[in-house]
Amino acid sequence: MWNGLQALYTAFVSRVALVVLLQRVDLRPLQGSGLRVLELHHQSVGPHDVSQVAYAAGVVRAVVLDIGETLVRDDRYWGSWADWLGVPRHTMSALVGAVTALGLDNAEALRMIRPGIDLQAAYRDREDAGRGEYLDDTDLYPDVRDGLQALRDVGLRVCVAGNQTAQVGDLLRGLRLPVDAIATSAEWGVAKPDAAFFDRVIKLAGAPPGETLYVGDHPVNDVIPAKAAGLATCLIRRGPWGLLWGDDPSVPADLRINGLADLPALLENDRMER
Ligand SMILES: [Mg+2]
Repeated sequence: MWNGLQALYTAFVSRVALVVLLQRVDLRPLQGSGLRVLELHHQSVGPHDVSQVAYAAGVVRAVVLDIGETLVRDDRYWGSWADWLGVPRHTMSALVGAVTALGLDNAEALRMIRPGIDLQAAYRDREDAGRGEYLDDTDLYPDVRDGLQALRDVGLRVCVAGNQTAQVGDLLRGLRLPVDAIATSAEWGVAKPDAAFFDRVIKLAGAPPGETLYVGDHPVNDVIPAKAAGLATCLIRRGPWGLLWGDDPSVPADLRINGLADLPALLENDRMER
């Protein structure tokens, strides 16, 4: 009984948060094909099914993947902010969850702890103290190397592009992942969900938008603007945002996966069917 009420409450809060987030995005570009996809999701997507729905016309030739919570776990990122600001890591994670549920930007969690914080200055202070951004192989989700290689093995061009600093771009390139290119928002000077970011994604992919799949965990930063740019879209159910909204029918994802290992077979089948 109590578990049922809890589940109902959680579903309600996540739905309200998504509606708040969606209200912050201009959905006009989605009218038409996006809404058609949305209706199909109501009929065919169940919780945790690997699914393929209303695919964009054409064969996928290139896959571009988001970084945070798609390839890289955010544990170190938020943990290091908690340590820098002097609060327990659990407090930081809970606040990130809270601002997500309120439909606010992640950075609001930092402002709750340190009202008025100058984030650019804080980034610089952390770098100067030798506690700047860092990542290595242990930050990757365990399916990343094999998953990326498998995508290349079925003949796809594979790229990485997400909202990250130039430093993270350098660190990722240093990991020698099996990909064709890596780029970050700081390197491009434009960030998601801006349409100009997805123009750069299309150039990086080297394929027409309808033949390029963008994979990400976040409905508002990844799926909705990628769809608006004409890309095929895939929502990965991991990280707080992917798990909270992974099955929400109002998110117009063409594919929904539980991990990267699901993807090559879906795309290979798509290539074979056409
Ligand atoms: Mg992400």
